[in-house]
Amino acid sequence: MQIRAHHIFCIQGFIGKGYSEQFIDNMENIIEKINSCNLLIEVTNTPDCICTACPKLKIIDSQSENAKISPIGCEVETKVKMLDRKVADSLGIDFGKHYLYSEILKKLKYIDEEKFDNICSECQWYSLGYCKKRIIGI
Ligand code: SF4
Repeated sequence: MQIRAHHIFCIQGFIGKGYSEQFIDNMENIIEKINSCNLLIEVTNTPDCICTACPKLKIIDSQSENAKISPIGCEVETKVKMLDRKVADSLGIDFGKHYLYSEILKKLKYIDEEKFDNICSECQWYSLGYCKKRIIGI
């Protein structure tokens, strides 16, 4: 399964809230699948199976600055790519490489509050506090 890097954090903090009903259903199905077996995850920095049900996933106009990156993308693709980079660096994982989900969970244990805040503090879901609680226990 392909997962964009910053969604590794989103998966941990998900509590059934999201951008639409379709997004929430899809996210719940993906999380159930990921948790039910130790899936091999291909880490990416492009739209993934979570994005496919998101109302923010757009066809990028050929005039767009993102057109060189992907024919489709998030409406805030540049911003989320930056998050993908930060999460990948913080976990020591690379785009295009495969990891067992259990390996990724082990790497998540090394995320401390400073790293977490540096990556997530500008996210719209940050203030709810669920992600921080689940990822670093605060
Ligand atoms: S399309 Fe954008 S906002 Fe939607 S899930 Fe993907 S990265 Fe997140």
